[in-house]
Amino acid sequence: MGVVVQKYGGSSVADAEGIKRVAQRIADTKRRGNDVVVVVSAMGDTTDELIDLAEQVSPLPAGRELDMLLTAGERISMALLAMAIGNLGLDARSFTGSQAGVITDGAHGKAKIIDVTPGRIEQALAAGAIAIVAGFQGVSQDTKDITTLGRGGSDTTAVALAAALHADVCEIYSDVDGVFTADPRIVATARKRDHISYEEMLEMAACGAKILHLRCVEYARRYDMPIHVRSSFSQKNGTWISDEKDESMEQAIIAGVAHDRSEAKITVVGVPDKVGEAARIFEALAASQVNLDMIVQNVSAAATSLTDISFTLPRADGQAAVAALTAIKPEVGYASLMYDDQIGKISLIGAGMRSHPGITAKFFSAIASAGVNIEMISTSEIRISVIVNEAQVDDAVMAAHSAFDLDADEVEAVVYGGTGR
Ligand code: ASP
Ligand code: MG
Repeated sequence: MGVVVQKYGGSSVADAEGIKRVAQRIADTKRRGNDVVVVVSAMGDTTDELIDLAEQVSPLPAGRELDMLLTAGERISMALLAMAIGNLGLDARSFTGSQAGVITDGAHGKAKIIDVTPGRIEQALAAGAIAIVAGFQGVSQDTKDITTLGRGGSDTTAVALAAALHADVCEIYSDVDGVFTADPRIVATARKRDHISYEEMLEMAACGAKILHLRCVEYARRYDMPIHVRSSFSQKNGTWISDEKDESMEQAIIAGVAHDRSEAKITVVGVPDKVGEAARIFEALAASQVNLDMIVQNVSAAATSLTDISFTLPRADGQAAVAALTAIKPEVGYASLMYDDQIGKISLIGAGMRSHPGITAKFFSAIASAGVNIEMISTSEIRISVIVNEAQVDDAVMAAHSAFDLDADEVEAVVYGGTGR
């Protein structure tokens, strides 16, 4: 008899019907003889609605209070789910993140888990109960304030608990059947992957694939915890994420195409091409806690000895970055700043790139044949990313997906729920 951790996302518990359906699934898992721990997200778009509400009363709500507000979303769904399971004749007990022993640092809105001490969960399991835990939240070790782990953080709660409880598997339930070769909302013929390595999944999550929270995959890799991503609306086998290699299966060269519309691009125009200027610019950005992604420095024009430096960053950090750069303008002596938030990033990911030449050329020509201009490029060993105009993201994703023969013969991607918000 093993411990199974199951995580249900917001679209799986969007209303009373959904909660009852999920409760039945959990009861079935328990009746098969497993110890069951469930991590649950807030119902439907609750988190977005709470954020909207906070912004109506204050343009810049304090992090401590915003976290307190947002964690209420998961508390609603955990209690309702425990009631629904109780109604099926089984003992279920709900716990907040803090009660479940999820200890974090104090960074409100993006707290990191530093320890998990699930004593109360173990007690509940020992008593034969099903434990329901509110996802996405914890308690700060120093301040004892309630924290949240960042959007989509319930996945991370689930994997962290699974590791701490030495679970056999962490099942992540959402509104699609697994990890697809592209977002099925853009590419209807996207194909479901049966297996993906941690390394590829890390790149996909980092490049905007929303199916799993990035930190959840990092955690799973560190603790070697297999994840099974699947739908709560069907009984189909989903996608397994692990380092286990099935020798009988041919390893795909390309794992998939990911896209991200959450970034912006800043160009610092006319930077004097001298030692130390780039350092000065990026030190100022670092001091303002701005996270950078791609960076490109042009070759300076021989006549002027001036160069342009462009970089991408989360749109949410845009204001802070512009303010930091404006403050050092007199000191650096650059000419001007350009800010563009109408961009999107398309990434092609696959461990097979290491040993297959020609992938880059094929990717770029697919994008060109869709009439899309490439603004920036970056690569890793197993990934190629390009920045394009935001309006052309869908076209570029579809073109790359077809060029690498990723399209399924028949439509297998079903989006069962969710608003995609
Ligand atoms: N409810 C939170 C969110 O919408 C956490 C989660 O769903 O994982 O971001
Ligand atoms: Mg959610």
